[in-house]
Amino acid sequence: MRKKIVAGNWKMNTTVAEGVELARGIVAKINEVPSNVQLITATPFTHLVPVYDIIKDSGIALSAQNCSNESKGAFTGEISAAMLKSAGCQYTILGHSECREYMDETSRILVQKMNRAFEYGLKVIFCCGEKLDDRKSGRYADVVISQIEKVVFKFPEEMMANIIIAYEPIWAIGTGITATAEQAQEIHALIRAAVAEEYNKHVAENMTILYGGSCKPSNAKQLFACPDIDGGLIGGASLKADDFVAIAKCF
Ligand code: PEP
Repeated sequence: MRKKIVAGNWKMNTTVAEGVELARGIVAKINEVPSNVQLITATPFTHLVPVYDIIKDSGIALSAQNCSNESKGAFTGEISAAMLKSAGCQYTILGHSECREYMDETSRILVQKMNRAFEYGLKVIFCCGEKLDDRKSGRYADVVISQIEKVVFKFPEEMMANIIIAYEPIWAIGTGITATAEQAQEIHALIRAAVAEEYNKHVAENMTILYGGSCKPSNAKQLFACPDIDGGLIGGASLKADDFVAIAKCF
Protein backbone atom coordinates (compact mmCIF):
# COMPACT_ATOMS: atom_id res chain seq x y z
CA MET A 1 0.00 0.00 0.00
CA ARG A 2 1.45 3.37 -0.96
CA LYS A 3 1.62 6.14 1.63
CA LYS A 4 -1.12 8.76 1.94
CA ILE A 5 0.55 12.12 2.53
CA VAL A 6 -0.64 15.64 3.27
CA ALA A 7 2.29 18.06 3.11
CA GLY A 8 2.12 21.73 4.00
CA ASN A 9 4.34 24.12 2.06
CA TRP A 10 4.53 27.27 4.17
CA LYS A 11 6.58 29.06 1.49
CA MET A 12 7.97 32.45 2.67
CA ASN A 13 5.28 32.95 5.30
CA THR A 14 5.30 33.33 9.09
CA THR A 15 7.92 34.66 11.47
CA VAL A 16 9.65 32.08 13.66
CA ALA A 17 7.20 32.82 16.50
CA GLU A 18 4.21 32.44 14.17
CA GLY A 19 5.62 29.24 12.69
CA VAL A 20 6.13 27.76 16.15
CA GLU A 21 2.54 28.68 17.01
CA LEU A 22 1.29 27.06 13.79
CA ALA A 23 3.27 23.87 14.46
CA ARG A 24 1.86 23.73 18.00
CA GLY A 25 -1.64 24.13 16.58
CA ILE A 26 -1.14 21.18 14.19
CA VAL A 27 0.36 18.96 16.91
CA ALA A 28 -2.59 19.78 19.18
CA LYS A 29 -4.93 18.30 16.55
CA ILE A 30 -2.82 15.34 15.46
CA ASN A 31 -5.20 12.82 17.05
CA GLU A 32 -7.86 13.88 14.55
CA VAL A 33 -5.68 12.84 11.60
CA PRO A 34 -6.35 9.31 10.29
CA SER A 35 -3.50 7.01 11.33
CA ASN A 36 -2.73 6.04 7.71
CA VAL A 37 -2.01 9.65 6.72
CA GLN A 38 1.52 11.04 7.03
CA LEU A 39 1.61 14.78 7.71
CA ILE A 40 4.66 16.73 6.57
CA THR A 41 5.42 20.39 7.25
CA ALA A 42 7.78 22.20 4.89
CA THR A 43 8.82 25.29 6.81
CA PRO A 44 11.16 28.13 5.91
CA PHE A 45 14.83 27.30 6.69
CA THR A 46 14.88 29.58 9.74
CA HIS A 47 12.00 27.63 11.34
CA LEU A 48 13.28 24.08 10.86
CA VAL A 49 15.01 23.59 14.20
CA PRO A 50 12.34 25.13 16.47
CA VAL A 51 9.54 23.42 14.54
CA TYR A 52 11.38 20.08 14.69
CA ASP A 53 11.51 20.41 18.48
CA ILE A 54 7.73 20.74 18.52
CA ILE A 55 6.80 17.99 16.05
CA LYS A 56 9.51 15.40 16.68
CA ASP A 57 7.39 13.07 18.88
CA SER A 58 4.11 13.67 17.05
CA GLY A 59 4.60 11.59 13.91
CA ILE A 60 4.65 14.74 11.75
CA ALA A 61 7.70 14.81 9.47
CA LEU A 62 9.79 17.87 8.72
CA SER A 63 10.64 19.02 5.21
CA ALA A 64 12.62 21.85 3.69
CA GLN A 65 11.38 23.72 0.63
CA ASN A 66 14.62 23.46 -1.34
CA CYS A 67 18.30 22.56 -0.97
CA SER A 68 21.58 23.38 -2.64
CA ASN A 69 22.98 21.39 -5.54
CA GLU A 70 26.39 21.64 -3.85
CA SER A 71 27.54 19.60 -0.84
CA LYS A 72 29.35 22.30 1.14
CA GLY A 73 31.74 25.21 0.93
CA ALA A 74 31.82 28.72 -0.47
CA PHE A 75 28.20 29.07 -1.60
CA THR A 76 26.98 32.11 0.31
CA GLY A 77 23.32 32.01 1.18
CA GLU A 78 22.85 28.35 0.26
CA ILE A 79 21.62 25.55 2.53
CA SER A 80 22.97 22.03 2.00
CA ALA A 81 21.19 18.70 2.26
CA ALA A 82 23.52 17.76 5.13
CA MET A 83 22.40 20.87 7.03
CA LEU A 84 18.76 19.98 6.47
CA LYS A 85 19.32 16.46 7.71
CA SER A 86 21.09 17.78 10.81
CA ALA A 87 18.14 20.12 11.47
CA GLY A 88 15.71 17.18 11.59
CA CYS A 89 14.44 17.07 8.01
CA GLN A 90 13.36 13.81 6.45
CA TYR A 91 12.24 15.45 3.22
CA THR A 92 12.89 18.36 0.93
CA ILE A 93 10.64 19.78 -1.76
CA LEU A 94 12.47 20.18 -5.10
CA GLY A 95 11.40 21.63 -8.42
CA HIS A 96 8.58 23.82 -7.12
CA SER A 97 7.29 25.96 -9.99
CA GLU A 98 8.17 29.13 -8.04
CA CYS A 99 11.82 28.01 -7.79
CA ARG A 100 11.85 26.99 -11.46
CA GLU A 101 10.49 30.39 -12.44
CA TYR A 102 12.11 32.86 -10.01
CA MET A 103 15.42 31.05 -9.37
CA ASP A 104 15.95 29.61 -12.85
CA GLU A 105 15.99 26.09 -11.49
CA THR A 106 16.60 23.81 -14.48
CA SER A 107 16.21 20.06 -14.80
CA ARG A 108 20.01 19.74 -14.84
CA ILE A 109 20.28 21.55 -11.49
CA LEU A 110 17.38 19.52 -10.13
CA VAL A 111 19.19 16.25 -10.88
CA GLN A 112 22.17 17.58 -8.91
CA LYS A 113 19.90 18.64 -6.03
CA MET A 114 18.25 15.21 -5.98
CA ASN A 115 21.69 13.60 -5.82
CA ARG A 116 22.68 15.77 -2.84
CA ALA A 117 19.36 15.05 -1.09
CA PHE A 118 19.76 11.28 -1.53
CA GLU A 119 23.43 11.36 -0.46
CA TYR A 120 22.34 12.80 2.88
CA GLY A 121 19.32 10.56 3.37
CA LEU A 122 16.55 12.98 2.48
CA LYS A 123 13.44 11.96 0.57
CA VAL A 124 12.34 14.30 -2.19
CA ILE A 125 8.92 15.77 -2.97
CA PHE A 126 9.45 16.45 -6.67
CA CYS A 127 7.08 19.04 -8.15
CA CYS A 128 5.92 19.16 -11.73
CA GLY A 129 3.09 20.92 -13.50
CA GLU A 130 2.08 22.81 -16.59
CA LYS A 131 1.41 26.49 -17.26
CA LEU A 132 -2.01 27.74 -18.30
CA ASP A 133 -0.87 28.02 -21.94
CA ASP A 134 0.15 24.37 -21.95
CA ARG A 135 -3.23 23.39 -20.55
CA LYS A 136 -5.10 25.48 -23.13
CA SER A 137 -3.07 24.16 -26.05
CA GLY A 138 -3.50 20.54 -24.97
CA ARG A 139 0.27 20.04 -24.43
CA TYR A 140 -0.11 19.63 -20.67
CA ALA A 141 0.50 15.90 -20.40
CA ASP A 142 3.67 16.07 -22.55
CA VAL A 143 5.01 18.96 -20.46
CA VAL A 144 4.48 17.17 -17.15
CA ILE A 145 5.83 13.80 -18.28
CA SER A 146 8.86 15.49 -19.82
CA GLN A 147 9.64 17.27 -16.49
CA ILE A 148 9.57 13.87 -14.79
CA GLU A 149 11.65 12.17 -17.49
CA LYS A 150 14.36 14.83 -17.26
CA VAL A 151 14.83 14.46 -13.51
CA VAL A 152 13.10 11.53 -11.79
CA PHE A 153 13.84 9.01 -14.56
CA LYS A 154 17.56 9.81 -14.34
CA PHE A 155 17.57 7.77 -11.12
CA PRO A 156 17.58 4.00 -10.80
CA GLU A 157 14.66 1.92 -9.58
CA GLU A 158 16.08 1.48 -6.08
CA MET A 159 15.85 5.24 -5.48
CA MET A 160 12.15 5.46 -6.36
CA ALA A 161 11.05 4.71 -2.79
CA ASN A 162 12.70 8.03 -1.86
CA ILE A 163 10.67 10.10 -4.31
CA ILE A 164 7.17 11.51 -4.00
CA ILE A 165 5.81 13.24 -7.08
CA ALA A 166 3.62 16.32 -6.60
CA TYR A 167 1.54 17.31 -9.62
CA GLU A 168 0.90 21.04 -9.31
CA PRO A 169 -0.69 22.74 -12.32
CA ILE A 170 0.81 26.23 -12.19
CA TRP A 171 -2.50 27.85 -13.10
CA ALA A 172 -3.98 26.40 -9.90
CA ILE A 173 -1.23 27.44 -7.47
CA GLY A 174 -2.32 30.25 -5.17
CA THR A 175 -5.03 31.28 -7.61
CA GLY A 176 -8.03 29.78 -5.86
CA ILE A 177 -8.70 27.78 -9.05
CA THR A 178 -8.40 24.07 -8.37
CA ALA A 179 -8.00 21.45 -11.06
CA THR A 180 -11.15 19.36 -11.13
CA ALA A 181 -10.83 15.88 -9.71
CA GLU A 182 -11.10 14.56 -13.29
CA GLN A 183 -8.32 16.84 -14.58
CA ALA A 184 -6.04 15.87 -11.68
CA GLN A 185 -6.84 12.16 -11.89
CA GLU A 186 -6.09 12.15 -15.64
CA ILE A 187 -2.56 13.44 -15.09
CA HIS A 188 -1.92 11.32 -11.99
CA ALA A 189 -2.87 8.20 -13.95
CA LEU A 190 -0.60 9.26 -16.83
CA ILE A 191 2.29 9.84 -14.42
CA ARG A 192 1.76 6.42 -12.85
CA ALA A 193 1.63 4.80 -16.29
CA ALA A 194 4.87 6.56 -17.28
CA VAL A 195 6.57 5.31 -14.09
CA ALA A 196 5.33 1.77 -14.84
CA GLU A 197 6.70 1.99 -18.37
CA GLU A 198 10.08 3.37 -17.27
CA TYR A 199 10.51 0.97 -14.31
CA ASN A 200 7.71 -1.52 -13.64
CA LYS A 201 4.19 -1.86 -12.24
CA HIS A 202 5.41 -2.49 -8.70
CA VAL A 203 7.33 0.81 -8.59
CA ALA A 204 4.36 2.65 -10.09
CA GLU A 205 1.88 1.17 -7.63
CA ASN A 206 4.09 2.18 -4.70
CA MET A 207 4.77 5.73 -5.91
CA THR A 208 2.93 8.38 -3.88
CA ILE A 209 1.60 11.09 -6.20
CA LEU A 210 0.26 14.26 -4.55
CA TYR A 211 -1.97 16.94 -6.01
CA GLY A 212 -1.17 20.61 -5.33
CA GLY A 213 -2.94 23.79 -6.36
CA SER A 214 -5.56 25.59 -4.23
CA CYS A 215 -6.38 22.38 -2.38
CA LYS A 216 -8.54 23.18 0.65
CA PRO A 217 -10.97 21.45 3.02
CA SER A 218 -13.87 22.08 0.64
CA ASN A 219 -12.32 20.29 -2.36
CA ALA A 220 -9.85 17.80 -0.84
CA LYS A 221 -12.43 15.06 -0.37
CA GLN A 222 -13.25 14.88 -4.09
CA LEU A 223 -9.59 15.00 -5.07
CA PHE A 224 -8.48 12.37 -2.55
CA ALA A 225 -11.28 10.05 -3.65
CA CYS A 226 -9.53 9.62 -7.03
CA PRO A 227 -7.69 6.30 -7.35
CA ASP A 228 -4.33 7.83 -8.33
CA ILE A 229 -4.33 10.84 -5.97
CA ASP A 230 -2.49 9.88 -2.79
CA GLY A 231 -2.73 13.19 -0.97
CA GLY A 232 -1.89 16.83 -1.34
CA LEU A 233 0.84 19.42 -1.30
CA ILE A 234 -0.89 22.33 0.35
CA GLY A 235 0.23 25.97 0.18
CA GLY A 236 -2.16 28.64 1.46
CA ALA A 237 -4.42 26.29 3.41
CA SER A 238 -1.46 24.84 5.34
CA LEU A 239 -1.02 28.16 7.15
CA LYS A 240 -4.04 27.50 9.34
CA ALA A 241 -3.80 24.44 11.59
CA ASP A 242 -7.57 23.87 11.40
CA ASP A 243 -7.63 23.86 7.59
CA PHE A 244 -4.50 21.74 7.26
CA VAL A 245 -5.84 19.09 9.61
CA ALA A 246 -9.30 19.30 8.02
CA ILE A 247 -7.68 18.47 4.66
CA ALA A 248 -5.93 15.44 6.17
CA LYS A 249 -9.28 14.30 7.55
CA CYS A 250 -10.68 14.22 3.99
CA PHE A 251 -9.25 10.74 3.40
C1 PEP B 1 2.02 25.11 -3.66
O1 PEP B 1 2.57 26.14 -4.02
O2 PEP B 1 2.68 24.09 -3.45
C2 PEP B 1 0.56 25.13 -3.51
C3 PEP B 1 -0.08 24.01 -3.70
O3 PEP B 1 -0.03 26.35 -3.19
P1 PEP B 1 -1.58 26.66 -2.97
O4 PEP B 1 -2.17 25.51 -2.18
O5 PEP B 1 -1.61 27.94 -2.20
O6 PEP B 1 -2.19 26.76 -4.32
